[in-house]
Amino acid sequence: MIVERLEQIYAIAQHRAGYSAEEDAAHELAAGWMREAGLDVSVDDAGNLFGKRGAPRVWAGSHLDSVPTGGRFDGALGVVAAIEAAARLPEAPLAVVAFRAEETGPMGSKRLAELPDAYLELHIEQGPVLASLGEPLGVVTAIAGQARGFRVFEGRADHAGTTPMDRRDDALVQAAKFVLHVRECAGEGTVATVGSIEVEPNATNVVPAKVTVSVDARSADAKLLDALVEELDFELQWRSDPVPMGDAFAAILPDAPRLVSGAGHDAMFVPGSSLLFVRSLNGGVSHHPDELSSAEDIALAVDALTAALARLVS
Ligand SMILES: [Zn+2]
Repeated sequence: MIVERLEQIYAIAQHRAGYSAEEDAAHELAAGWMREAGLDVSVDDAGNLFGKRGAPRVWAGSHLDSVPTGGRFDGALGVVAAIEAAARLPEAPLAVVAFRAEETGPMGSKRLAELPDAYLELHIEQGPVLASLGEPLGVVTAIAGQARGFRVFEGRADHAGTTPMDRRDDALVQAAKFVLHVRECAGEGTVATVGSIEVEPNATNVVPAKVTVSVDARSADAKLLDALVEELDFELQWRSDPVPMGDAFAAILPDAPRLVSGAGHDAMFVPGSSLLFVRSLNGGVSHHPDELSSAEDIALAVDALTAALARLVS
């Protein structure tokens, strides 16, 4: 049933942008499933969709928008699984939520007016770690903090044919050393990436005069993140703190591996959040039609979500 529902959401459109007609259609579909599960449907000022029973202090859900190249599981899995868990707990006072526009902000969860005691989110890992461990589920201990910025290297433009090698001041050679340096510095509790590079004048026959490279550094440990930013000595454009996650899933899955989420999620913005990852197959590919979790792994995840919700509402 969960896999069929994910297929129905995907059939609306692969790209369901935040606040688009496609996202609206997905919310409408989910609203129908919420009613079937015995939940009262409502929408807040930010357009977030709720299916509530009683006076809920405990929420579960995720988002239904997607990126242009999106797959079937990112976001939608968390909403569909929460509706299924609510159906399995027909007496429990709880709420299922579909946040608006996660991929662009996240805009819905940031604008949340009402705050729960606990928010549980099930999400596809979007990475290869659980598959490499041979584990179906992983308990997320924290969402990594991020630091983004850039670094500029200045050299001198010269003729690529007439300037001897020992007379050059090549900005791209400096930048290349920096890219390797970034790779060497990251790794112990951190990740860092140079994902964008701008070369001036960017001509085949001119020694590069100026190069600007982006830097994206992440860690679940604020001190490690700050130390890395200092070591890489780049121009910081913005920085977010790591967000520790709650232990609602850890209580149900004491032996599941613990991991850090390198990607942002709605759970960052909702107090009392706990996040559970489901193994990504196909090498962890995400934001892509090949994104995949198995029906078996999803069944285990829904069992865990149901147990965690039952424990919190009892
Ligand atoms: Zn997502």
